Amino acid sequence: MRILGAWLKTLEELLLPPAAPCGLCLEHPSAPVGACRSCLDSLAIQWESWNIQDHTCFSLFPYQGFGRELIHKMKFQHGYEQAVTLGRMLGLACREEPELAKVDVLIPVPLSPGRFEERGFNQAAVLADNISKVWKRPICDHVLRTRETESQSGLSSIARKRNVYGAFSVLPGFDFRNKNCLIVDDVITSGSTFSSIARTIKDYGGRAMGVFAARTERSRE
Ligand SMILES: [Zn+2]
Repeated sequence: MRILGAWLKTLEELLLPPAAPCGLCLEHPSAPVGACRSCLDSLAIQWESWNIQDHTCFSLFPYQGFGRELIHKMKFQHGYEQAVTLGRMLGLACREEPELAKVDVLIPVPLSPGRFEERGFNQAAVLADNISKVWKRPICDHVLRTRETESQSGLSSIARKRNVYGAFSVLPGFDFRNKNCLIVDDVITSGSTFSSIARTIKDYGGRAMGVFAARTERSRE
């Protein structure tokens, strides 16, 4: 009994260090998913699925209010902790989603080297790493950005498509044929970045799906 108790305690500590603060506000003590009740309520979590062309996509919460603040914090204010926590939450959701059971690899949306230097980390890669820790799916980092693209924010839908058209390619060393690839990103807006990567994966014989922390209303138009 004592052994079992100790084992459970170790497991508990591994999953959640004692008195860990919430990974989103970094203030209140966290609930078992790594965030506090107040943050979870503010996020208005709603796991949703929809299609972009013939690709199934999933997201955790709407890109508004607190969810939008979190994404901004992650991207522009070195919000590494928030990316780790959202990644874990996404991992739990993916693990429970029957439609994702067939996924072979996770593919984080690559960041351009310039932006990587500005931010210090690729938020999509941190999300994917933590999804992978919870859900035990490997990461494929063979998709790369072949050219610098303008920031997508503030661009029209057509300009976004043009901006990312042909901006991605794959490195040799990974066989995409018949692989179910889950593209991971922090937020989906018009879907043009997602579609561009999905097309690249398809060109190499793979199938693409998507998972995002946040979705805008526009992503499902
Ligand atoms: Zn919190």
